[in-house]
Amino acid sequence: MSENILEINNLSKYFGGLAAVSHCSLKVKKGTITGIIGPNGSGKTTLFNLIAGNLKSSSGNVLFNNADITDVPSYELFSKGLLRTFQIAHEFTNLSVLENLMMVPGNQSGEKLMNALLKPSLVAKEESQIKEKAMEVVEFLNLAHLKNELAGNLSGGQKKLLELGRSLMKDPEILLLDEPLAGVNPKLADNILEIISNLNAKGINILMVEHNINAVMKISDRVVVMAEGKIISDGKPDFVRSDKKVIEAYLGSSDE
Ligand code: ADP
Ligand code: MG
Repeated sequence: MSENILEINNLSKYFGGLAAVSHCSLKVKKGTITGIIGPNGSGKTTLFNLIAGNLKSSSGNVLFNNADITDVPSYELFSKGLLRTFQIAHEFTNLSVLENLMMVPGNQSGEKLMNALLKPSLVAKEESQIKEKAMEVVEFLNLAHLKNELAGNLSGGQKKLLELGRSLMKDPEILLLDEPLAGVNPKLADNILEIISNLNAKGINILMVEHNINAVMKISDRVVVMAEGKIISDGKPDFVRSDKKVIEAYLGSSDE
């Protein structure tokens, strides 16, 4: 058994002549929260897209629990327990919060016609289990009071929580969170950080890209810094915070 949940070896992605991700290597230890930071355009989202099967790599490989998952499509990784959320949440606006959770793919045998016709009691039982699970998730996320609200009426931060909730329906082994705090007010942001810590305490591995550096430093065991497609610094928050290369990368960018 490897002590790493994820291993990225020499991974690259080129868009035409642009190396969006360039020879990145990273081993993620089991049980940890790893934060990825870096100026805009440094390749963070592209790295996530490569790991989570939303984009094909140009070269290199990715191992999940020691198995090669390079270029394995996202829906397959989804059922293996590797899930990602997006920088911009994409909920079903006309469904309630609870319905959004219950709609997560792979949860309804009720959609399979044969089952519905031949084993209605099985379908009913599964549906009640899914509902129970969805209730657990809304309670864990402090969204229980909004369970019947249309997702389209939620605030930006609540939508991010719902997006997180949709991945929790699948009992993930590792969660890749792309900017979980983007567009979230400061109070809810603290709430989301606490939820992420609690998920990690329950044994879920976390890899998180976030623009809010202080937030990343606060909850990560380890921080990885990207600039121009490369990993330029990697270590404990205190190490990275005082690393000259990191300070230079941020000074040289339009970010403050
Ligand atoms: P970050 O998430 O760190 O802000 P991205 O991974 O989104 O950075 O982008 C890294 C670089 O790759 C940027 O220069 C961006 O313009 C470019 N890029 C990202 N996606 C594409 C794409 N689909 N086609 C062409 N260029 C892209
Ligand atoms: Mg991004």
